[in-house]
Amino acid sequence: GEKMRIGIAGYGNLGKGVEYAISQQPDMELVGIFTRRDPSTLHPIGEKVTVYPLADADQYVHDIDVMILCGGSRADLPEQGPALAKLFTTVDSFDTHAKIPDYFAALDEAASAAGTTAVLSVGWDPGLFSVNRLYGESVLADGATYTFWGKGLSQGHSDAVRRIPGVQNAVQYTIPSEDAMAKVRAGEQPELTTSEKHTRECYVVLEADADAAVVEETICTMPDYFADYSTTVNFISEKELQEKHSAMPHGGFVIRSGKTGENTNQVMEYSLKLDSNPEFTSSVLTAYARAAHKLSVSGQHGAKTVFDIAPGLLSPKDPAELRKELL
Ligand code: NAP
Repeated sequence: GEKMRIGIAGYGNLGKGVEYAISQQPDMELVGIFTRRDPSTLHPIGEKVTVYPLADADQYVHDIDVMILCGGSRADLPEQGPALAKLFTTVDSFDTHAKIPDYFAALDEAASAAGTTAVLSVGWDPGLFSVNRLYGESVLADGATYTFWGKGLSQGHSDAVRRIPGVQNAVQYTIPSEDAMAKVRAGEQPELTTSEKHTRECYVVLEADADAAVVEETICTMPDYFADYSTTVNFISEKELQEKHSAMPHGGFVIRSGKTGENTNQVMEYSLKLDSNPEFTSSVLTAYARAAHKLSVSGQHGAKTVFDIAPGLLSPKDPAELRKELL
């Protein structure tokens, strides 16, 4: 049949990842990239891909089935989400967990009025991890759910280290605590705080006259960011940082540990090991774009989350094929 026509709104890490992901999907084609910057300054991976001003998006409502929103959660999506949901069926990766209810309400109002479908907070967390937390607690009603993050690069923590006087450059990785993971996997159901579940590892490039001991002390005692965690600080050269620490790996685990019957332990575990957080998130967004289109075409409008979307809708295969091949 006809290919699903996709637009990309915003061309950062996720935008590039979505461009790759669309090229791997048999039933999708990229109509164009929409940006707030001067379109001539963007260089899409595909040579024939057209870049349009985001301000002109309303001229393309009949050319695009789903607009994949790749803006940032903090400043871009709260504005772009509702504005674009008035024009297009959309998918986004909004990840400010505490603000999801308000964002849902704004999107639901815009999409319901416009007769579009707005799928929010898709990705891995929120996203695939959320679905696995739901499966875990629905199936094992008597139990505890654990989310561990990492090993992963944390942008916010890396920025915090870079702001310390004497630091030229830095990256920070969040790492799941081996001890905590072992207890959970053994079915012990321990009570764990976020800082007990994770350790932090910093790779720091010092400025010429900086005092390493002072920098290390400043990092390890930084409230909110590091003070409650077991933190290790490694000093390296700028060259080593560029060579070994410029990727954006991430991942993590969702574990549900529960009891059934006469004290029988049951452990469900879902894990991700990602070389590139944004490229993976983009691949999830693209699969959910397919579901968004199917919902929209079938008249199911308004805001939707991963909890509202049946898994079969993500696949290019039809329900009969899925029953035969995957069930
Ligand atoms: P990003 O690279 O900073 O891009 C965000 C926006 O900034 C782009 O849409 C782009 O908009 C603009 N931009 C990008 N590069 C620029 C540059 N060189 N100069 C000026 N503007 C530039 O952010 P990202 O890594 O794609 O991440 C986007 C969001 O995804 C994050 O805020 C995060 O909340 C979310 N996320 C969610 C998950 C999840 O699991 N749910 C996982 C990872 C990330 P214009 O093209 O319009 O300028």
